[in-house]
Amino acid sequence: MTGGSILFEGTELVGAPDAVWRSIRGHRIAYVPQSSLAGINPVLTVGTQLMALVRAARSDTGADVSARARVRELLELVEIPRIDSVMHERPHQLSGGMRQRVVIAGALARSPSLLIADEPTTALDVRVQARILDLLRRLREQLGMSLLLVSHDLAVVEEVCDSIVVLYAGAVMESGPQALVREQSRHPYTAGLVAAAHMELAGGYEPIPGEAPSVGAWPSACRFHPRCGLTLRLGDGAPHDRCCEGAQPQPFEHEGRLTACLFASSMATEGAPTVGAQTATGEST
Ligand code: SF4
Repeated sequence: MTGGSILFEGTELVGAPDAVWRSIRGHRIAYVPQSSLAGINPVLTVGTQLMALVRAARSDTGADVSARARVRELLELVEIPRIDSVMHERPHQLSGGMRQRVVIAGALARSPSLLIADEPTTALDVRVQARILDLLRRLREQLGMSLLLVSHDLAVVEEVCDSIVVLYAGAVMESGPQALVREQSRHPYTAGLVAAAHMELAGGYEPIPGEAPSVGAWPSACRFHPRCGLTLRLGDGAPHDRCCEGAQPQPFEHEGRLTACLFASSMATEGAPTVGAQTATGEST
C-alpha cells in the first residue's frame, strides 16, 4: 500500500504498530480465504481445531464444557448438519461447502465486527455457492457485522453487496452503490466488466481487450489507458493526450459515485465503449 488511509473503528491502520495489528487481526477483523483448505488444518478434527480457536478467543485453558458449547453454537450458526459426527471428522471427510462453513465458523469465534471473505465461493459449484452466499448474507444481518467481499464475479457482488469498489492495477477505478455503478458505469473498466458479464450470461465470451499489467509494472498516467476503448474514441484512434500524462487520476465525485475516469461525463453522453474494441496497439484480443 503506497498511500491513503484505513480507518477501522476509529483506529488508523496504515502504519500502525504490530501490536495494534495483532489486537485487531483475527479478533475484530476476521478472514475467510478463497480455498477452505487454506483455512483449516487437514490433520485435526473439526472439533479439535474449533475448540482451540474458541479457547484462544477466550484466553481460556480449562473450561472444556463451555468451549464445546460455543463450538456447537458456531456450527449451528453456519448451519452444519449432524454436528456431533462432524465434530469428529477431518476436513477431507467433508464436502467443499461443508469445509467452507467450518472455516466461516472458525472466523466467527471471536465475534468480529468485520469479516473479509476473499472469493469464498470460487471453488464451489453453483448450487453450493448460492447457499454459502445466503449464509454470509444472513450472518451479516444476524450478527450485525460488516462483510467485505473480494470477488471477480459481478453476479456475486449483486447478490450480496450494497457498495462496490472496482480496482484495476492496484488503483480504485470507480466506487459507490453497487446497483448504480453496475447499471450506469462511469468508468470504461467497470463498463467492460459489466459487458463481459452480460456476454457470459448469454453464453458468449468477450473479454476486455489486452491484458492486465504485471504487479508493479503499472502503465504510466491512467493505468487503464492501454486497454481503454473510450480514450481511443476520444483521440480519433490514438489514446487521448490527457489519458497519457501525469499520474493515475484520483477518484472524484461524479453522479453519486467516485470515478477515476477523466472523461466520465462522456460515458453518459456517448455510452460505454464496446467490449472487444481495438486496443491502443491496434490488436484485438
Ligand atoms: S482517463 Fe482516459 S484512459 Fe483512463 S479510463 Fe478514462 S478515458 Fe480511459
